[in-house]
Amino acid sequence: MTKILLIEDEPRISAFVSRGLDSAGYATVIVDDGAEGLARALKEDIDLVLLDVGLPSMDGFEVLRELRAQGSTVPVIMLTARSSTRDTVEGLDAGANDYVSKPFTFEELLARVRSRLRESASSGGVAVAHGGVALDILARRTTVDGREVELSAREFALAEQFLRNPGRVLSREHLLRTVWGLDFDPGSNVVDVYVRYLRGKLGPQHIVTVRGAGYRWE
Ligand code: CA
Repeated sequence: MTKILLIEDEPRISAFVSRGLDSAGYATVIVDDGAEGLARALKEDIDLVLLDVGLPSMDGFEVLRELRAQGSTVPVIMLTARSSTRDTVEGLDAGANDYVSKPFTFEELLARVRSRLRESASSGGVAVAHGGVALDILARRTTVDGREVELSAREFALAEQFLRNPGRVLSREHLLRTVWGLDFDPGSNVVDVYVRYLRGKLGPQHIVTVRGAGYRWE
């Protein structure tokens, strides 16, 4: 199910938007605080973010900048004030994919949501980058700080899993399934061996071992 994170501190607006999104068949998560919204956008499997500008603890622009700085490519639609072109420009500069001015009708918002989701489904995942490491998925090219690095097909698939899930702990089982297509652990330490290869090629600092849980891309 497509999951939409709504970061909005006005209960009236978040209730109205989430009701509409739920009935359009989306799962909606509401957060009313900037810092918490950022944390959830980075940790959870979110397909699209609706981001208010005026928020407690961190405003919408700060949330967006930090989200992009952490390598997230999730589509973000800013909810801006109609009168403020400054908000719009600043939002797009900070990496927003679109904006909707308040007050908006639900139909207006839904149209934007649908088209941004369509876009990200068709263009999404062609390139991922994080912490100086970039993967071009179609060309199978890897660069570290702009310098090209040779990865085997398996190493590339493993790196892709990490870069698509920065900050999340990936278990050995999950990696065996997604990278090796195995539903069981053959009792080998193949994942650990490949993580070692990747550390050697991409730099030792990116992949952290989480004892008893798996690995996490920092
Ligand atoms: Ca607000």
